[in-house]
Amino acid sequence: MAIDRTELREKLKSFFGFDSFKGNQEEIIMHLLAGNDAFVLMPTGGGKSLCYQLPALCLPGTAVVVSPLIALMKNQVDAIREFVHTEDRTHIAHFLNSSLLKSQIQEVKDDVLSGKTKLLYVAPESLTKDENVALLKSIHVSFYAIDEAHCISEWGHDFRPEYRRIHEIVNQIGRAPIIALTATATPKVQSDIQKNLGMTDAKVFKSSFNRPNLYYEIRDKANAKREIIKFIKENPGKSGIIYCLSRKKVEELAELLNVNGIKARPYHAGLDAATRAANQDDFLMERVDVIVATIAFGMGIDKPDVRFVIHYDVPKSLEGYYQETGRAGRDGGEGKCITFYNHKDIQKLEKFMQSKPISEQEIGKQLLLDVVSYVESNTCRRKILLNYFGETYEPDNCCSCDNCLYPKKQFDGREDMSTVMELILSLKENFKTEHLADILAGASNSIIKSYKHHKHPLYGVGKERGQRYWAAVIRQGLVLHLLDKDIDKYGLISVTEKGMEFYEKPYQIMITEQRTFTDVDDDDDIVSSPTKHMAGSGGGDQTLLAMLKDVRSSMSKKLGLPPWVIFADPALEDMSIFYPITQEEMLKCSGVGDGKAKKFGAEFLSLIAKYVEENDIVRPDDIVVRSVPQKSNKLFIIQCIDRKIPFEDICEAKDMDMAELMDDIESIVNSGTRININYYLHQVLDLEAIDDIYTYFKEDARSDSVDEAMRDLGGDYEEMEVRLVRIKFISELGN
Ligand code: ADP
Ligand code: MG
Repeated sequence: MAIDRTELREKLKSFFGFDSFKGNQEEIIMHLLAGNDAFVLMPTGGGKSLCYQLPALCLPGTAVVVSPLIALMKNQVDAIREFVHTEDRTHIAHFLNSSLLKSQIQEVKDDVLSGKTKLLYVAPESLTKDENVALLKSIHVSFYAIDEAHCISEWGHDFRPEYRRIHEIVNQIGRAPIIALTATATPKVQSDIQKNLGMTDAKVFKSSFNRPNLYYEIRDKANAKREIIKFIKENPGKSGIIYCLSRKKVEELAELLNVNGIKARPYHAGLDAATRAANQDDFLMERVDVIVATIAFGMGIDKPDVRFVIHYDVPKSLEGYYQETGRAGRDGGEGKCITFYNHKDIQKLEKFMQSKPISEQEIGKQLLLDVVSYVESNTCRRKILLNYFGETYEPDNCCSCDNCLYPKKQFDGREDMSTVMELILSLKENFKTEHLADILAGASNSIIKSYKHHKHPLYGVGKERGQRYWAAVIRQGLVLHLLDKDIDKYGLISVTEKGMEFYEKPYQIMITEQRTFTDVDDDDDIVSSPTKHMAGSGGGDQTLLAMLKDVRSSMSKKLGLPPWVIFADPALEDMSIFYPITQEEMLKCSGVGDGKAKKFGAEFLSLIAKYVEENDIVRPDDIVVRSVPQKSNKLFIIQCIDRKIPFEDICEAKDMDMAELMDDIESIVNSGTRININYYLHQVLDLEAIDDIYTYFKEDARSDSVDEAMRDLGGDYEEMEVRLVRIKFISELGN
């Protein structure tokens, strides 16, 4: 049956209401209509569905669409029925999956047998059922469409074992043209799909995977929660998705956002179906701005105006990352993709993998290494991503990633690249990036030893640069196509032809300085104290800090109190960062509780208010992050002390040790609450000793350091004893 292009366009208009094809849809459809196999690689949102929906409506028989998205099949089928303006539109498309009742299945079968159904969506596990195979054998299948075809490959981010059987089942039912579609396009996944479906000769239609409207950025994770809140507040009313790896983190973060006045909902597989659906709906219907989710969220979701996608945790693979970030800016408008990175997260992911079979571990590790090299890299992110998907991005500067907008210093790396090549060429076999870098950096490990590479003349020649540097040089070589990575053999590195030319006659190539990431995780920062990680970092307003210290010292003289009893340094540093001008705002500073703010705060607040006013300072009050109320022991401890309960009993009741209890009590008095621990103190120390330590803190101490006190007191007292008296002292004088 021949159909020409004009006719096809008419059908496009009449069925779907579209005036023109998107990208290479038309070529793909013509190819399929002519009875050929097609392999379609198109980014998310590119318009893959139409590539099988339209031909299905044009051809005699029924097209079988295999899709893993059971939850969305109904939507897809409904959408098709909406498009088609014929009388029997309910018959025109159906789905078969485990969610159907027996009677519904019979209806579907009747329609399919009567020839009215043009599109039949099947879940892979339904396709393999004997009764369905028998059904499909008895009808005319126009073609098979394998949607989300990357599920076939273990190298994809979403492997489904049932997908492996598709080829065999197709052969049982009877061969017809196959169209496989995916948005995952690494060469490895692509070849897996083709081999598995027995369609290595199929024509490949690959669209560019570049998403010019997306902006890519990687940030250090140290302040992630605070930065996320700030980012969302600076982008009011915009929709966004935040991905976390664990359900627990999803819940926590969603709660934290809500506490901070951001409308957000959690989404993960641990929620019951009704809650999940309601939360997804709230997001789609824009009743909330943000959805915090595990990767369970998003496949098949078509919200065109998602303005940001944040990865709170580093993704497990670049495929996954590209799919998830791909959900931003589908309408071609703004789409910011921000990932928070901390190397510890990688180690956590590696640990999770240990329980998996070895082959899976190998794959998982390799995928992770690619993620690491992406996030740690300083070259254009777009270039790396597209290179990863087998595409070359030509421009030097994409102007829409952190590395292009805020470039790091570059230097001529020709010598170092030559060294890398010399090493590769000198070895009898090929090795992976990490191993090569280990050799040059002079690392010592079992692999190095087993190959005797510590005897190699180049071993350790780049020791001072470190392993990460050499790995970065190799990655740069890959990006410049001087080196090649064998995807079939776990990423073994070799020198390309272009690389050989370089090696024989080196020319200038630019290598970027390495970026360093802290190993600080922000897991607990906000929950315990909004500023813990910042205290002492000296990040505040130094002029103001000096003025605050002046006030403190004159107050200290006036009141006859050591300065640190009034406000310790971290408290003043926080004030120099947040510029609090009310007592309430002051509570956000570390170690400032109600008591202290009331007792000592006024003078500091008026100084800050004046300073802010005179210097036109824009106060970052909108990013003062409120913490989720903690199920804290503090109230319990205060009540126990009031009732003179022995400390040992408090510890037992709360299952904590003495040191933990002491920490809690110190934080209680440090924030200004007055408690009386004499009943306990007199049990463990005699009056003379108490007096000795007390006088020291009152008259001699230069700071609140316990170590210093122990030294100055001549080593006569135990740490616990000094701490107890200090608690008494701060409580009585400071609070
Ligand atoms: P993919 O499966 O590739 O992620 P979809 O098939 O879901 O993408 O299509 C993405 C969006 O593009 C849908 O909203 C679809 O209606 C729209 N679309 C597809 N083809 C066209 C076209 N030719 N003209 C206009 N819009 C189209
Ligand atoms: Mg799709």
